[in-house]
Amino acid sequence: MTVTQVKINQVSKYFGDVLGVDNATIHIQEGEFFTLLGPSGCGKTTLLRTLAGFYRQEEGDIFFNDVCINDLPTHNRNIGMVFQSYAIFPHMTVFENVAYGLKARKVKKQDIQTRVMEALEMVELAHLKDRQPSNMSGGQQQRIALARAIVIHPGLLLMDEPLSNLDAKLRLKMRSDIRELQKRLNITTIYVTHDQEEALAVSDRIAVLKNGKIQQIGKPHEIYLTPKNQFVSNFIGSTNFLSGKTSSSSAGSMTDVEVQGIRFATKLVKQYEGNIIYSVRPEQIKVKREHNRYPGPFIKGRIREAVFLGEKVEYKVELAHSGDLIQVHEHAVPYHLLMSEGEQVELYLNPEESVIYSEGGEEALN
Ligand code: ATP
Repeated sequence: MTVTQVKINQVSKYFGDVLGVDNATIHIQEGEFFTLLGPSGCGKTTLLRTLAGFYRQEEGDIFFNDVCINDLPTHNRNIGMVFQSYAIFPHMTVFENVAYGLKARKVKKQDIQTRVMEALEMVELAHLKDRQPSNMSGGQQQRIALARAIVIHPGLLLMDEPLSNLDAKLRLKMRSDIRELQKRLNITTIYVTHDQEEALAVSDRIAVLKNGKIQQIGKPHEIYLTPKNQFVSNFIGSTNFLSGKTSSSSAGSMTDVEVQGIRFATKLVKQYEGNIIYSVRPEQIKVKREHNRYPGPFIKGRIREAVFLGEKVEYKVELAHSGDLIQVHEHAVPYHLLMSEGEQVELYLNPEESVIYSEGGEEALN
């Protein structure tokens, strides 16, 4: 099986006046699990369908293994596809569904038998090969679709929200099965989802899109810990955004930051004086009782809500300075140490972990 390396160079796709994909550049390595992530209408499906050859981009080029495939029809691109709707033929057996693509490619009967059984074994459906798919579960039908995609030995697997129609528990199981199979086959995979947790869980790298435009490309931890703008920060996980401002500091490369009445110096990647958005994730904040001081900059507040969820506690804290509410998550808190509503607390923000954005949230400054 040849594994495909994909280069998308400055690709734009229009629908009349609507820009479905806006100047996308992505280079995907052989065997990589790459996810296109973003809210509805951001262009994920359009980009995937352009890669599949269902759409022709108006601008830019696409290369598979350094061969330009702009004008190559879908059936010559050596891709396997799995969609949200299973797109299974109800009148055929499981075996016949999976064999379909091989018959169309005029593969020898003996080889069809071997390859279909191999693909069905991989998705753990070999024992159901003679069943009609119409009376099978959603998860099983999606496995048939997966077997049908891999049986042709594609160099590239394209998956568009394949788990959306499954219930929450099955979705978790299927996503780890897909990832395991993808690793085992070492097949380059481009996966579309709007589910940020799913994207973090399965991907080698993720591209976050908004209005057809790529906002950031990175490994899951890079996207989560250092989002490049406020949109990415807000879309991935939950984040607190606090308003503040900066002024140049006397200490050379350091910048003074003021947030919620506290001041501290931090290093920015560029000089910036003015209003900022200070973002900090709920689990990056330490919450202490007022008499239990912690070294570092503090914000004073009062617990407005404490929700015990077993593995973690979720606090809503009202800040003394502004009255704003902030989310704080603490993990593995012994129940007897839980803080309760009305308690006065001090919140410790680690400037090293926080991300500071320019006033409009367009760029990260640290
Ligand atoms: P979803 O998660 O809802 O499927 P998406 O991120 O996949 O969304 P796309 O379906 O790629 O988004 O749509 C991107 C933009 O292009 C949207 O503004 C959409 O309305 C527009 N669009 C997509 N397909 C067409 C089409 N066939 N004709 C006209 N406009 C389209």
